[in-house]
Amino acid sequence: MKHTCPENKSGHIRLGACLPIHREPRRAESERSMKIIYNLKRFNFNINIVRVSSCCSWLKRDFQMKKIIIIIILLSLTFSLFANEYTISYVNSSRKDHLQIYQLQNRSYIDIYDLIRVFEAKLDINPNLQTIDFTIFNKKCRFFFDNKWVKFGKKNYNLYDNIKIQDGNFYIPKYFLNLCANKFFPDCVVINNNRIIVNLTAMEQYLIKRIVIDPGHGGKDPGAVGRILKLKEKDIVLNIAKETKQLLENNLDVEILLTREDDRFVSLGDRTEFANNHQADLFVSIHCNASRNTRANGTEVYYLSPAKTTEARAVEALENDAIRFEDPESIKRYTDLDFILYDMRQSEYLIESIDLTEMCQKSLVKELGTNDKGVKHANFYVLRGAFMPAILVEVAFLSNKWEEQRLKSNWFQNQAAKAIYESIKQFKEKYDKMN
Ligand SMILES: [Zn+2]
Repeated sequence: MKHTCPENKSGHIRLGACLPIHREPRRAESERSMKIIYNLKRFNFNINIVRVSSCCSWLKRDFQMKKIIIIIILLSLTFSLFANEYTISYVNSSRKDHLQIYQLQNRSYIDIYDLIRVFEAKLDINPNLQTIDFTIFNKKCRFFFDNKWVKFGKKNYNLYDNIKIQDGNFYIPKYFLNLCANKFFPDCVVINNNRIIVNLTAMEQYLIKRIVIDPGHGGKDPGAVGRILKLKEKDIVLNIAKETKQLLENNLDVEILLTREDDRFVSLGDRTEFANNHQADLFVSIHCNASRNTRANGTEVYYLSPAKTTEARAVEALENDAIRFEDPESIKRYTDLDFILYDMRQSEYLIESIDLTEMCQKSLVKELGTNDKGVKHANFYVLRGAFMPAILVEVAFLSNKWEEQRLKSNWFQNQAAKAIYESIKQFKEKYDKMN
């Protein structure tokens, strides 16, 4: 008896259709094999082998195809191994970019200026300290010249290669990108082979991130001078500002900038301009009060708005008097229409400014035990033009002999700093939550 057994495309026949066979039922442990009985003889097929042979025959027939696939795989492998740039895409944006990889002494580096463009970061190079502060996603990474460590938060991380400075360019080891993706900003940076996905919108969750602290006066302008001990306002407020900066940086995730770090003169307009240029989220100007009335004492915190009381006008005049140390050209700008229009910009932040003023007033009175003179407002030149919530703190009176004595002590200065810090912390907690 003759059978015609139709072959399928790969040259196989269907057993049951061609031969009178009996197939033994498969058991769980022999899933990979199939037993059949034909002419009372038992045949054992290994299913894997059948499949391999099927695959081999396909490859034989499609040898050209196989060659093409192997070439494509090899090419893509070679490309990813030797790719000299990352392609950058952005979440929620059609923007595309690329990041060049440089080989320096056979090590892979990224140009820091490329990183700034790609991550919209900020750079502050200090040749004296030999540091490079790189602010990315509103957090600071500090690199050191010719050094393989990067400081992030309170920890140092190894980059395995030194930072390189070549022809005025700063090159950061490529490993920095891995730290960004795996440790520093896993929500904002994802690396996939030679592709980087950046989420710039994730960084907007930090609302209060950069604060400018402004120690009043300085240099040729001593500010108020104590009646008995001849203490200078400029020295006391600088100490308080530095201590406040320390407390904020040590305890909150914020960047703190001072309008002056030493005894130097800074014009009133330059102080707010500094805060605006650095896109600060808060501006806190620190002062000591003075009055003809030597018995006047206590603490008051101000926000910008025309003075309503004689007392507030007197403090306004006292602080605005600092412009007499400025050159005539500089003074002119305080009466310019542009500058007056800046008041309107500040009024955008009026509610926040009043809020911070109240928090700061309460905190100072609590920590210092001073007379609570209450929240005030006046037209201070130093607050005009600030594009952020801004306050002016009058810690205590240098014109009062008891308060001058207290202002001299480290304890009092540190308590004042602690009080300002506490109020900023409270303000940040409130507004970050609202965001
Ligand atoms: Zn002052």
